[in-house]
Amino acid sequence: MSYPEFLDPLETASREFLNDLQDNAIGAICRHAQDYAPLIRQKCAEAGVDARDISSIKAFREIWPFIDKDDIRVFRDTHNDVGGGTSVTIPGLTVSMGTTSGTTGDPTPIPNSRLGAPEIGYCRDLWAIGMRPGDYHVHMMFTYRGGHRRRLYNELGVSDIYLSMHPAELPRLVEASLRFRPTVMNNFASPFLHAMEQYIEKTGIDPVDVFSSYKGAIFGGEPLSDRMKAVVKSWGLELYETTSLGDVASTTDCRMHNGFHAYEDLAYIEAIDPITTAPVADGEIGELVVTTLVDRLCPLIRYRTGDLVVIDRRPCGCGRVHSRFKILGRATDQILVEGRSILPREIMGIVENHSETRHGLFQIIRREREMPELSIRIGYDPERLTGSANALKARLHDDISEQIGVRTVIELVEEAELLKLGPPHKIPRVTKK
Ligand SMILES: [Zn+2]
Repeated sequence: MSYPEFLDPLETASREFLNDLQDNAIGAICRHAQDYAPLIRQKCAEAGVDARDISSIKAFREIWPFIDKDDIRVFRDTHNDVGGGTSVTIPGLTVSMGTTSGTTGDPTPIPNSRLGAPEIGYCRDLWAIGMRPGDYHVHMMFTYRGGHRRRLYNELGVSDIYLSMHPAELPRLVEASLRFRPTVMNNFASPFLHAMEQYIEKTGIDPVDVFSSYKGAIFGGEPLSDRMKAVVKSWGLELYETTSLGDVASTTDCRMHNGFHAYEDLAYIEAIDPITTAPVADGEIGELVVTTLVDRLCPLIRYRTGDLVVIDRRPCGCGRVHSRFKILGRATDQILVEGRSILPREIMGIVENHSETRHGLFQIIRREREMPELSIRIGYDPERLTGSANALKARLHDDISEQIGVRTVIELVEEAELLKLGPPHKIPRVTKK
């Protein structure tokens, strides 16, 4: 049976169509948010803005107020509102409660409707990777946070195989892959990939055979490092990176691997200067701001994500016109040392180049935005030490201080200890202590 290349014809809609669609959708979602989401209503009152004046994206960009995570937390605490003033209760529409990931603070509850924007996005992404009705799909959950978002996959006629993202599940993943020959896995995260690498080394199984049926696997949780990309490629597996689009949708890269696609029928994205909030042109670095166009239960409007990105609205080689963006890091992760701005991903390649620290586990210690030196805690695998830990420390120190060009202080800890500092699927890359 032949299927279309894209699941939804909207994926290849023209730029003019998408612009029209957004101009038509923005007023309605703004009115809904102002009428029913208390934080948005408060922000509009403070800014003297009325959603009835929003007739286009242009008008929206000129007057609509921004919100950020702190606004939501303050509203939650002062009004005893668990949803932080951004949730709307519509009887019969809320089918489950999820939360944000809580990477940079307390998780915020998010009500889920039957077909949420992240679910719609993932179905398009998995279809583009090659998942088709009748296929098996391995779903690895690092928490049950997103586990309720299953309905649409099932409607596509796909059978899910559920595993938890824990090293103890590795033999089951191998067995399920050999027995059911799934086409897509969703998703891998760094600690599990590292465990997989060690498992392959210890057991001698052939990863190319184990993963031979997969057309792709989704990778999420944090940026994918160059070393892990190469390792997974040697298993014959193509990774597609994914992340949350500021909690309003999902966003995944396509086969061109040239940025995350933001589906513009589901969300409007823009970039601003993180200090002045002035608009930043496409192609330049700015903070990503997202606006849902469809979520009536959690209408996040002009939500500042804290991610530094570069947006590209030119058509993509995959055939889609929907915008793409690259993430450079979190605005709050930026550290200044001797006037030099440093983001964690600059450190990644240097750390993972050493065999003992190949997993790239590290944290930048950032007590203030401006620090006199670059202070890094790095996790190492004691089993891979060939000399003393001090010699490794000296090697890392020389490499980092030379390549980054600032004074560097390194603290070495065993990987297992460092991993205890984060949730199961990632560690905070920047920490205060
Ligand atoms: Zn693309």
